[in-house]
Amino acid sequence: MKTKMTYDAFDKALKLLQDNYTLIGPVRKSKRGTMSDTDSIRYEEVTKFEQIEFEEKAQFSAKEILQPITQVLFYFTEDEYKVPTAGQKQILLFLRACDVHALDRVDQIYLDNGPVDPYYKQIRERVKVALIGCQHSYRNCFCVSMGTNKTDQYAIGVKPTDDGAYLDIQDSDLLEAFAGFDQDQNIVFEMDFVTTNETIVDVPKALDGQDVAQQDLWREYDSRCVACGKCNFVCPSCTCFGMQDIFYKDNDNTGERRRVWTSCHVDGYTDMAGGSGFRKKHGDRMRFKTLHKVHDYNKRFGKHMCVGCGRCDDACPEYISFSSCVNKLSAIEKEGK
Ligand code: SF4
Ligand code: SF4
Repeated sequence: MKTKMTYDAFDKALKLLQDNYTLIGPVRKSKRGTMSDTDSIRYEEVTKFEQIEFEEKAQFSAKEILQPITQVLFYFTEDEYKVPTAGQKQILLFLRACDVHALDRVDQIYLDNGPVDPYYKQIRERVKVALIGCQHSYRNCFCVSMGTNKTDQYAIGVKPTDDGAYLDIQDSDLLEAFAGFDQDQNIVFEMDFVTTNETIVDVPKALDGQDVAQQDLWREYDSRCVACGKCNFVCPSCTCFGMQDIFYKDNDNTGERRRVWTSCHVDGYTDMAGGSGFRKKHGDRMRFKTLHKVHDYNKRFGKHMCVGCGRCDDACPEYISFSSCVNKLSAIEKEGK
């Protein structure tokens, strides 16, 4: 159902909704960006419309809501363990189209790639999507090239305008929650989706893994990439984590096991018993990530892992462009034909 509400009425509806839902959206953090005078936009709990950043792209994705940076899997003593109690409230998560597609890519890994991950599932089952449209493309976005610029997978679409919030409510529970507030249902509108980006990426069609691994292209990144992992940490479709056992000081037979984000770019990611490790060169790590994003995942699941949000390019301190790297790969593929 399409409807329009004043911001005052919308806020009242959001307040009522918070009896059953935690609302999480992109929030502008003043002067918390990379430079002292820049802002940061990242996901956290909101209670009102005005707290949600609709204008600009969030530098960080919403994945830390579903895959916490550090997550306790269980607490242990000498002879037993206990899994933490799961949250009960539902979550309404404000996402742009590319991030809705990223959610699908992450679902594939945690829910449909072998045994289901119960920790992810118990959060994912509580999440509903509130779609934020995109009136224009942002720096480094290439969602159109990846086919992730549009989606109809949302419970509610929210389009802020000068004369109120335009809502496309598709979920019956939300329809009920909004029903008691003043609305104008004689409204016709579409959610905004971009149809062009300044950055265009030509994704290689049929790379030969062996040939690609030998290309000189990767050597450029041996020195340019400083292996900070920032590109992975801001990426909405990266899912890797490592394990840590934390032993408590008062009894070192008790403690907790956590999983913690890690990254295929950082030192130690491929370390094995005996001290050896794969991909010592930073360029080889760039190759691994790039092929995972635009080749291997697609080969296995029939869609690319990269959703073209451009956050990796926004975040890299060495100005390494992932989109340019993918274009270099397709140029190599074309030359080889
Ligand atoms: S690889 Fe880069 S552009 Fe692709 S989804 Fe991850 S952060 Fe976004
Ligand atoms: S953000 Fe840039 S420098 Fe850091 S690991 Fe990624 S590609 Fe390398």
